[in-house]
Amino acid sequence: MTFADFGLRAELLEAVQASGYTTPTPIQDQAIPAILNGDDLLAAAQTGTGKTAAFTLPLLHRLAASEPAAKRRPVRLLVIAPTRELAAQIHESVKSYGGSLPLRSGVIFGGVGMQPQIDRLRKGVDVLIATPGRLLDHLQRGNARLDGVETVVLDEADRMLDMGFIHDIRKILKMLPAKRQTLLFSATFSAEIRRLASGMLTQPTEIDV
Ligand code: AMP
Repeated sequence: MTFADFGLRAELLEAVQASGYTTPTPIQDQAIPAILNGDDLLAAAQTGTGKTAAFTLPLLHRLAASEPAAKRRPVRLLVIAPTRELAAQIHESVKSYGGSLPLRSGVIFGGVGMQPQIDRLRKGVDVLIATPGRLLDHLQRGNARLDGVETVVLDEADRMLDMGFIHDIRKILKMLPAKRQTLLFSATFSAEIRRLASGMLTQPTEIDV
């Protein structure tokens, strides 16, 4: 398989080439077609496997291929990650792969001021990457809405549970449309992860790399 075989749009293929990737990694081989197809996904994957590109590339492709349902600029893709470092890293990937697409993105995490994040959210972002606690804080203050989300990604779900974010995540999930695409990535699969997954995923494609 090559990246071109997936049918990704030219802007994304150019970004892949600019990143120096020649061959998709195993998780990319399995996840990209399923995500392009709109499937839910349950993926066992460690950091370093190329998982960020595995979800970012097909999701950016899907976003660029359609207009939002609402006229205002809703968040259409939400990525939830356990730490500010990971959230910032995912945001960098989104900017680097999707830089030539007409999409806006933003990242929000705790430990920094609220106001710049509020300003960004008010301007509107198509893609939002966030840590759970700060995202919930913004949602409860009415700074953001999630009723236009088409896809939600939970990255490093096991770490989010270990860090005690399960209640925040469940509250956030309740604010999302029931009809959506959901992807869950985790390095390990405890009973608690399986419970979370079975409650939020619909007939997921399962990947173990
Ligand atoms: P991740 O698992 O998403 O943290 O990615 C690990 C590293 O692999 C990152 O530095 C990516 O830039 C890189 N990477 C992702 N996909 C590929 C690929 N197909 N070929 C080579 N490197 C890649």
